[in-house]
Amino acid sequence: MELTVLGSGTVAPSPTRTAASYWVTTGTTHLLLDCGAGTMHRMAAFGVPWAEVTHVALTHFHVDHWGEFPMLLFALRWGGEPARQRPLEVIGPVGLQDRLRHAASAFGEWILNPGYPLEIRELQPGDAYALDHEVELQTCKTPHTDESMAYSVRDKSGRLVYTGDTGPSDALADWALDCDLLLAECSLPDERSIETHLTPTQAGHLARKARAQRLVLTHFYPPVEEVDPAAVAADVYGGKVVAAKDGDRFTVGA
Ligand SMILES: [Zn+2]
Ligand SMILES: [Zn+2]
Repeated sequence: MELTVLGSGTVAPSPTRTAASYWVTTGTTHLLLDCGAGTMHRMAAFGVPWAEVTHVALTHFHVDHWGEFPMLLFALRWGGEPARQRPLEVIGPVGLQDRLRHAASAFGEWILNPGYPLEIRELQPGDAYALDHEVELQTCKTPHTDESMAYSVRDKSGRLVYTGDTGPSDALADWALDCDLLLAECSLPDERSIETHLTPTQAGHLARKARAQRLVLTHFYPPVEEVDPAAVAADVYGGKVVAAKDGDRFTVGA
């Protein structure tokens, strides 16, 4: 399984980080985790086969996590050759169907009928769902918004856990136990800690409690970059920590 960080930023404008977006490839499955602003251009810049996306999984409905999803739907129809025929599966929290209906009121009915089959799947926290016969997606509630969830992607070589946006949560750490790569949000510096996001120290605690093999930090608001978030998290975690940059690639598991 290979992870490409498309966007390691947030809603805060940054010259180097676009909003939340991650590309995961395993076998013939190409999964886009979140689809914030900048996703389309980053996919082109980093050479991922964007037209071959099979699934999109959204963690929650904050705009920095799905604001560019309508662009993706439109691009798959009009932005490449040949126009897409095969289905696209979009996965998200309960309420996804309703949100997409509202988006169709704003942008047009093509949102729900983009010219290829759009399969909408709402998952509850705790669900497991097979993306194909070898890849399983699992979900876990996170303390951020009512609907927010973390995702785990497991194939025969390993397990990736992406927190989405979250505050500190022991239940999340237990659920992520023994993952090969923990992609954890790290929004704010320690002195600005709040209940709905993580600081470097809290991300380090999460990785330590989850016994993650590797910790990759992401979703940086500008103030957290004034410290060295990887070094702060590593002090608590004790393992190897990377502060993600847009374009970074990681192999997950064996
Ligand atoms: Zn966010
Ligand atoms: Zn959020």
